[in-house]
Amino acid sequence: MPEGKIIKALSGFYYVLHQDHVIQCRGRGVFRKNKITPLVGDEVVFQAENNQEGYILEVKERKNELQRPPIANVDQAILVFSAVEPDFSPGLLDRFLVLVEFNHIKPLICITKMDLTNDDEQQKISTYAEHYNGAGYEVILTSSETEAGIDRLNPHLENKISVFAGQSGVGKSSLLNVLRPDLELKTNDISAHLGRGRHTTRHVELIKVGNGLVADTPGFSSLEFTNIEAEDLTRCFPEFLRASEQCKFRGCLHLKEPKCGVKLKVEAGEIPVYRYEHYVDFLREIKERKPRY
Ligand code: GDP
Ligand code: ZN
Repeated sequence: MPEGKIIKALSGFYYVLHQDHVIQCRGRGVFRKNKITPLVGDEVVFQAENNQEGYILEVKERKNELQRPPIANVDQAILVFSAVEPDFSPGLLDRFLVLVEFNHIKPLICITKMDLTNDDEQQKISTYAEHYNGAGYEVILTSSETEAGIDRLNPHLENKISVFAGQSGVGKSSLLNVLRPDLELKTNDISAHLGRGRHTTRHVELIKVGNGLVADTPGFSSLEFTNIEAEDLTRCFPEFLRASEQCKFRGCLHLKEPKCGVKLKVEAGEIPVYRYEHYVDFLREIKERKPRY
């Protein structure tokens, strides 16, 4: 039986990508019995009556599953932040990073609108980029205006399902437009694309970019730490996880504990103070379950 990937679900049909062809499929009753609703991103086994229509017979086990938008098997979240307009916010980036890490998705940091930066702003952004590199993250500086950095972004999309995430206005639709100019997405028009309009219809589609697939709706629209426990938080800061090997106590939360490897690295300037402060803020928020950013 052929296998493929659902790239779109609409009006009871699932559109399955199989060897560069898209086959329109229906689900069989079996899903209702097992309470599985096929999702965009699902790997499926299907039976094609002819090359135009078929039936989904089986949904393969999912690696992960996002709620908003509903999408399965996400490999990578491209965290889009603008250098300016709006200004780069490490607090918000750290929040996104925690949510992405918690879901076992690979983050890629993309800082856009570099064409609008002056020398000081460029300096500031490259210092942040060094910090995040040091934490273990790839950072790509781009401009959708000049297309600078797009050649560095492209290879990261190969053979993956990626979702964009980030505040509205940072340049997500503009990036997608540079990656797929033929789609002619409207920018700055949240009701049409990459925004609220799509959320109300809960419609999401995977778009081919080279050998990769990119969701046309941004992920991680809820920025709350629901389901994340204090103990989960340290593993969401990869450089803390490495430093915690030097913590005296197992399960050290890096707060008031003596002989803490993380605090030593912060004091030595090897972990930026703001990363640590965000961690402490998030920990408090998790304990109080109230959003602070
Ligand atoms: P989204 O809400 O994240 O999808 O953001 P948009 O892609 O709609 O971009 C918001 C605004 O920023 C639009 O007016 C874009 O033209 C502008 N913009 C986006 N990326 C860039 C960029 O790299 N350089 C410049 N100069 N403007 C950009
Ligand atoms: Zn510690």
